[in-house]
Amino acid sequence: MKKLVILGAGTAGTMMLNKLNTVLDKSEWQITIVDQHEKHYYQPGFLFIPFNIYTCKDVIKPKRDFYPPGTNVINSEIDKIEPKENRVLLKNGQVVGYDYLILATGAKIKPEETEGMKDGQWHKSIFDFYTIEGACALRDFFKHWEGGKLVLNITEMPIKCPVAPLEFVFLADSYFTERGIRDKVDIHFVTPLPGAFTKPKASAILGDFLHKKNIKLTSEFNIATVDNDDKKIISWDETEIPFDVLVTIPTNMGDEAIARSGMGNELNFIPTDPQTLRSKDYENIFVIGDATDLSSSKAGSVAHFQADILFENFLSVIEGREPHAKFDGHANCFIESGFGKGILIDFNYDTEPLPGKFPLPGIGPFSLLEETKMNHYGKIMFRWMYWNFLIKGLELPIESQMSMAGKRL
Ligand SMILES: Cc1cc2nc3c(=O)[nH]c(=O)nc-3n(C[C@H](O)[C@H](O)[C@H](O)COP(=O)(O)OP(=O)(O)OC[C@H]3O[C@@H](n4cnc5c(N)ncnc54)[C@H](O)[C@@H]3O)c2cc1C
Repeated sequence: MKKLVILGAGTAGTMMLNKLNTVLDKSEWQITIVDQHEKHYYQPGFLFIPFNIYTCKDVIKPKRDFYPPGTNVINSEIDKIEPKENRVLLKNGQVVGYDYLILATGAKIKPEETEGMKDGQWHKSIFDFYTIEGACALRDFFKHWEGGKLVLNITEMPIKCPVAPLEFVFLADSYFTERGIRDKVDIHFVTPLPGAFTKPKASAILGDFLHKKNIKLTSEFNIATVDNDDKKIISWDETEIPFDVLVTIPTNMGDEAIARSGMGNELNFIPTDPQTLRSKDYENIFVIGDATDLSSSKAGSVAHFQADILFENFLSVIEGREPHAKFDGHANCFIESGFGKGILIDFNYDTEPLPGKFPLPGIGPFSLLEETKMNHYGKIMFRWMYWNFLIKGLELPIESQMSMAGKRL
């Protein structure tokens, strides 16, 4: 039997398992998937929990619901990969050999990378919303909060879903308005980027949205420490920003198992060919999703487009051909902007987000770089699509390559 091992059963790993399971001959292939957790989290839903829009039940399902019959599922932490020996050592003592390996171990937050972040105020007046625990603690805090200085700070790039921090402040504007205390809440968006977003044109437009919604923007702020006693964040150039509540997007890093295996960069992200998604160091290893070191966004939609490319390339390689499918960096992100509206951006490695209609030229129904109700419905629909189509590896009516159709230059 030939052995395919998938490490990580989150968005990308589960998608690859389901896609490949339908085509690999079971009399020739054994497919194994390894993950430390039994629960699958719909991470885009974490954004909505602090504002009481989603509950925990809306974002959690058992991972086993998405494993096709016959999969060899191992529930254990990965200790180390030994790529030269073609094997993986697990924390439960098992040693798993492979012919081909797909790495889908994702990214996670590391608040402890910033001095003072996890001191006395953690989950008292300093919160994250990138974990279920953080999102729920913030929901409980907001319920009784009467207002003050709300500071959102991005520690450093890259982060998962680079639009999520913007969505957070837009939703905070909407939530505190509906609670009738918006005039008592001072919302401040503090980022290390030169503007509101990573791409210059979209950054200008999204910066205008911040302005219109009376959200203060401080750019090029590189946080050095958090002062828990005086409640302020301090940058390397000693600029101080006071807060009553700090919502942090901590440093995002790949898993420690990648570091222990000597396979990652300084943030434990894995060097990956930007087009074929093959490991730059090992021909029988592929990398997908947030675990890569690629400049594409770390997003579920990106993992979905990558999955189509990796599927084709994996089949080519096992048949002895060169991987020919090319990932173009395609990302498609709905940005929830509050008050039942949303904005959509669609871009790739070479093309910045542009205005226009998506996916049908002139028709839409979604509008690019514009705030509409339909874009909000798209965002809300995405959760249903995620559970019912995306992670089951089923086809969605969106091309993995970015199209210029409907976009205005
Ligand atoms: C707040 C928030 C909002 C977001 N919003 C959006 C959005 O609107 N749209 C969008 O497209 N994307 C969004 N994302 C990003 C999206 O959720 C991720 O990009 C996507 O889940 C990445 O999939 P992945 O498979 O690479 O990683 P994950 O889904 O994180 O899966 C990684 C898996 O690997 C396992 N693993 C890691 N290390 C080990 C180990 N040592 N041993 C065993 N198992 C291990 C983990 O347990 C996990 O199950 C958002 C993310 C967050 C946090």
